[in-house]
Amino acid sequence: MVTKSKALFDRAQVVIPGGVNSPVRACKSVGRDPLFIDRAKGSKVYDADGNAYLDYVGSWGPMILGHAPERVNAVLRTAIENGTSFGAPTEMEIDLAELVIDTVKSVDVVRMVNSGTEATMSAIRLARGFTGRDLVIKFDGCYHGHADPFLVAAGSGVATFNIAGSPGVPEATTQHTLSIPYNDIDKVREVMTAMGDKVACIIVEPIAGNMGFVKPKNDFLKVLREETEKHGSLLILDEVMTGFRVALGGAQSIFDITPDLTTLGKIIGGGLPVGAYGGRADIMAHISPSGPVYQAGTLSGNPLAMAAGIETLKAIREPGFYEALGEKTTRLVGGLRAAAAKAGVPCTVDSAGSMFGLYFTGMDVANFEDAKTSNLDYFTTYYNRMLEEGIYLAPSQFEAAFVSAAHSDEEIDTTIKIATKVMAELAG
Ligand SMILES: *Cc1c(COP(=O)(O)O)cnc(C)c1O
Repeated sequence: MVTKSKALFDRAQVVIPGGVNSPVRACKSVGRDPLFIDRAKGSKVYDADGNAYLDYVGSWGPMILGHAPERVNAVLRTAIENGTSFGAPTEMEIDLAELVIDTVKSVDVVRMVNSGTEATMSAIRLARGFTGRDLVIKFDGCYHGHADPFLVAAGSGVATFNIAGSPGVPEATTQHTLSIPYNDIDKVREVMTAMGDKVACIIVEPIAGNMGFVKPKNDFLKVLREETEKHGSLLILDEVMTGFRVALGGAQSIFDITPDLTTLGKIIGGGLPVGAYGGRADIMAHISPSGPVYQAGTLSGNPLAMAAGIETLKAIREPGFYEALGEKTTRLVGGLRAAAAKAGVPCTVDSAGSMFGLYFTGMDVANFEDAKTSNLDYFTTYYNRMLEEGIYLAPSQFEAAFVSAAHSDEEIDTTIKIATKVMAELAG
């Protein structure tokens, strides 16, 4: 029964565009109406009708500790009592900055903002201001938030709804963005040889999570580092999703890549609106007020958001945290792979840390074109059947999924059991 969700969606559609405040939430691509969520705790979300679901969306990434963890709730209660916004510096902002710098190796100096979009938008402004160049290179199917220059061959909702670009984005804004295929080393070299001296930066999801889940192949990231260094361009790793997710130190710690700038979001705010960008001290010195590149924010470094971020980072830095989370995810991914194999459904499943993805294709997915070979009818059926069985997944083939510390081994096994049943139905 989802009667209350249906009634709420009817109400919402009158006053909110499409009834939602972010497009993919509408569940259009899987042919259904969204569930309205009432509350969430641990590994579960509860809809307006009181149904419980085992959650693998985790608010699209932030909830690595699970929902409403007591230790984060406790610091939030204190923070509320102390006042929710001052528009003046606080000690907590230094605490979170120090934690981030200590955790992400390439970051010497960091600026807090309110979302991943703000982080990436500011990072390319800085790259352009620092280099005096305009051109930004990105990769097809990567999503870097909804700022104008990134809405070229973008991932996430743009991919889900198969949108080429967006009305309202002037050509003058995107003419300085070049999007090329992910994992295509030859293309990177070719483009950098031809116009490297005009390239302000290359921005990349070091493990892609907005066209489904795609790992970097061969020496892809290494070549990006070499080519940017060679041509005086900056390398920006967009770790808004992968930061604190695929490993404590982010994807850059797994692949041993030192970017010039890193963008962060999602987990860094522990479920409150936070983004951040940081990196080399000499580059960050160009940001206002220490330098001329302007960037500001009324609510940036907000005390509630800082409190949640600090407590979340403290929790994930505890010994054994990533080992336990990784084991759970490996167990789940192995189970899903076995379920598909048993049913004879063409399926590719992969993971990094507690981030994972599944495509209904027999091929090894290396880029957005490959991702599009996934059987979307299979996905739609799989998504809807899993939901009916109480498993909450992202309503799009072109999104990654997440396991949280609150997921128990029993819940993982339940998920595998349900997936095995659903995969068998798909084959039948
Ligand atoms: C989610 C995401 C963003 C945008 O972050 P918002 O907080 O939604 O603005 C940017 N880059 C990547 C890689 C993301 O996954």
